[in-house]
Amino acid sequence: MKYYSTNRQAPMASLEEAVVKGLAGDKGLYMPERIPLLDQSFIQNMKHLSFQEIACTVAQAFFGEDIEKNTLQQIVCDTLSFDTPVVNVTENIYSLELFHGPTLAFKDVGARFMARLLGYFIRKEGLKQVNVLVATSGDTGSAVANGFLGVEGIHVYVLYPKGKVSPIQECQFTTLGQNITALEIDGTFDDCQALVKSAFMDEELNAHLKLTSANSINVARFLPQSFYYFHAYAQLDKLGKADQLVCCVPSGNFGNITAGLFAQRMGLPIQHFIAANNRNDVFWEYLNTGIYTPRPSVQTIANAMDVGAPSNFARILALYEESEDVHAEVCKHISGAHYTDEEIAETIRNTYQQTGYLLDPHGACGFQALKDYLPEDACGVFLETAHPAKFKGTVDNILGSDIPIPEKLQYFMKGEKKSIELTKDFDAFKWYLMEVEII
Ligand SMILES: *Cc1c(COP(=O)(O)O)cnc(C)c1O
Repeated sequence: MKYYSTNRQAPMASLEEAVVKGLAGDKGLYMPERIPLLDQSFIQNMKHLSFQEIACTVAQAFFGEDIEKNTLQQIVCDTLSFDTPVVNVTENIYSLELFHGPTLAFKDVGARFMARLLGYFIRKEGLKQVNVLVATSGDTGSAVANGFLGVEGIHVYVLYPKGKVSPIQECQFTTLGQNITALEIDGTFDDCQALVKSAFMDEELNAHLKLTSANSINVARFLPQSFYYFHAYAQLDKLGKADQLVCCVPSGNFGNITAGLFAQRMGLPIQHFIAANNRNDVFWEYLNTGIYTPRPSVQTIANAMDVGAPSNFARILALYEESEDVHAEVCKHISGAHYTDEEIAETIRNTYQQTGYLLDPHGACGFQALKDYLPEDACGVFLETAHPAKFKGTVDNILGSDIPIPEKLQYFMKGEKKSIELTKDFDAFKWYLMEVEII
């Protein structure tokens, strides 16, 4: 399978090139040249299959031409050593719990898959060390660091804003050691992201080190996210609830929902998608007006969705570019919703009181959007993207509770924090990387 750039100004790439480079040379995002259609008999039979079995078939469709079958199966099975169950919240609304992985957020799936795939290419081709740079406001850094921990031939640098991530988040990437280095930047998340962007553009640095990114622009992180949409459908089908299924995705960079749109294109019968936003609602605005106006993000209590210029927007447009009216086609597939911090808090409070289900601030946007948009006779599933304990401070404030911290998170909190402090000055960061010893 070849991958083209959404900007159409770069040559087609192989899977390996697309994964190692991350972003295409023309700054576009890589897209598979075709989206394979799965047999309807497979879709109907999924309710009898395990998550791993389903994911192996989906992975085979995308990556089967490029990776030997047994190796690919191994990568998929190693990635999915945890479940993503569907849980009933109200009569017609289900939660797809994506937080049963090591860092209790959905990004574990993509990060683990990408780490294993990249590790495989490095071994196969005998590539020199690949360095993953990742800027984080909390969740991405932990998933990427844990996904790549101990993978030979890869070193990960996590850049995070000093004093601006919660202690629970910080310990998930500062206590690991081995091939993970935490860089504590005296600045904001935007400063961290600017440092990473400058690093990718610096010729001298790129001549010295092989650099790549691990956010949802990378096809190896983004495509595997389609696996759990199939698994969700299979579980609901088993309950007789999969007809006319509406799927709601709390969205920031729109990688997760785009993977769902890919699943639909592969033949998964999802009737409609809803993209749930917090106050960062440029996509909602696009649906309503047809005009896309990216802008700086604003801070909210669902901070993993504080994105003002969603990077996967280009992929959504590319999916429907053959249509005469792209905007109308996007609207046909996706509806939007947006919520203020107060509305998110009220949803968490009401849902807990009425159903006993504890939502995190991101999942709360998804649940509320289904409540607001779902016709009474339809069934919906929202993606619960993180465990509420990851946002303990916020959730406790809203509920007046003291929710327990799961053992997986407590484990990180016992480790010793190690980080390297840097200013937001690019030269300091560059020379730090230039002096890193190449293994
Ligand atoms: C990253 C993240 C999101 C947003 O996902 P996108 O793929 O960027 O749209 C939502 N919720 C949580 C908890 C996240 O960590």
